[in-house]
Amino acid sequence: MRTERANAKINTYLNVVGRRENGYHDIVSIMQTVSLCDLVSVDFRPSLHTSITLMSSGNDRMPNDCRNLAWRAAEKFLQKTGRSGEVRIVLEKHIPMAAGLAGGSADAAAVLRALNALCDAPLTVGELCELGAMLGADVPFCIRGGSARVTGIGECMEEIPEMPMGTLVVACRGEGVSTPWAYGALDEKYDGFRAVQTEDTRPNAIAAAWQKNDLIASCVHFFNIFEQVVPQVQGDVEVLKRMMVSAGARHAMMSGSGPSVFGVFDSREDAEACCASLQSAGAAAFVCHPCGKYPL
Ligand code: ATP
Repeated sequence: MRTERANAKINTYLNVVGRRENGYHDIVSIMQTVSLCDLVSVDFRPSLHTSITLMSSGNDRMPNDCRNLAWRAAEKFLQKTGRSGEVRIVLEKHIPMAAGLAGGSADAAAVLRALNALCDAPLTVGELCELGAMLGADVPFCIRGGSARVTGIGECMEEIPEMPMGTLVVACRGEGVSTPWAYGALDEKYDGFRAVQTEDTRPNAIAAAWQKNDLIASCVHFFNIFEQVVPQVQGDVEVLKRMMVSAGARHAMMSGSGPSVFGVFDSREDAEACCASLQSAGAAAFVCHPCGKYPL
């Protein structure tokens, strides 16, 4: 049995720059793993017949069968490596679902890392990422974790300086947002992203501030294009952002396609007080911090 952390991701920058003929969108994003995480335990016993079982705690709405991305990750791993056997997955869920925090992708990535380790590393990290890309756009990033500039449909990753250590609050309240719906709303607003986009200097500015270990200076360059469509249908986003800023956050922004929001704090005390008041207002809220890459 091997237990892996499956860390949530936030986007400090997220832009959509094109739409392919197959409907997939090209993005430019800075993704970051944070300490809020699920725990994923995996056991593998080789045998002639394959069976995959998944048990979970922490969220009754999560599917425990082949609709679960963690389950599908195990299936893909066995297919790719030509192995058969019994896979047992136990998932302790803490990351809010359908929140723009890539919880499902993080769980799938954790299963791929765990199975690869349990089978004496038949796949390279690059091959694991290729496998992950078949499961979802965020999975390749969730395999490595840390800080990265992500482009293409999520499969191209570039190293950037690590996000400086700091205190973050991640929160969400109310209905989840469907990622396909959010992309559809942007397609309508931007006429299917037909126009050629001019290069945006903000991702470089964020990386330059992180190189100088200056988290606060980087915040003015944070950007999420989904903030142009999601808060209109999910009013809690703006409420949570306002609550964070009035509790001392230097910056608050929606993550991914929402509706989760993260705030950057100077002081741990302010972050903890903010988290408590968000929880009393009915939000799921967590104090956390940026995390580095997984040891692979
Ligand atoms: P992303 O930011 O990658 O779009 P998200 O954080 O918005 O992801 P998830 O929490 O990954 O969304 O869940 C989206 C949907 O995927 C859920 O509604 C759920 O039915 C399904 N799902 C499948 N496997 C999982 C899993 N292991 N954890 C959470 N949701 C899962």
